[in-house]
Amino acid sequence: MDTGGIREARGISGCLVCGSCTRVCPSARHGGFVPDEFIGAVDEGREAVGIWDCLQCRRCSHACPAGIDVAATVQDVRRLYAAAGNAPAKFLRAAETARETGASVARSPRIAKQRADLGLPVSAREGSG
Ligand code: SF4
Ligand code: SF4
Repeated sequence: MDTGGIREARGISGCLVCGSCTRVCPSARHGGFVPDEFIGAVDEGREAVGIWDCLQCRRCSHACPAGIDVAATVQDVRRLYAAAGNAPAKFLRAAETARETGASVARSPRIAKQRADLGLPVSAREGSG
């Protein structure tokens, strides 16, 4: 992975390999993204895996004794991958929907049904797509 200067800008070489970021990460706890492995990948220029499973809760950044903003580094790498056309389709759809409608989830009959099932009000415009 060509990190485009992210490694230097985020001080990744200062990583202590302590695992604190991963211990507090809810995504890692549920079998998702593993932040200390990610930091290692950025440090060594390897492919970053699982970055789209990061929740951006920022617990890792607060836990890091080396002061590495792990969550911001995830954002940096996401931007890098997205610019190269490597973002998951569901994220691109959400971005496109937000650009067109101002909401990340468009009105649809499916959403209207979910609202109705939850006992939430469904407006006349709901479900019109
Ligand atoms: S911001 Fe991402 S990597 Fe950091 S703790 Fe939250 S889910 Fe894990
Ligand atoms: S908490 Fe910080 S120093 Fe520890 S492994 Fe994660 S990035 Fe490295």
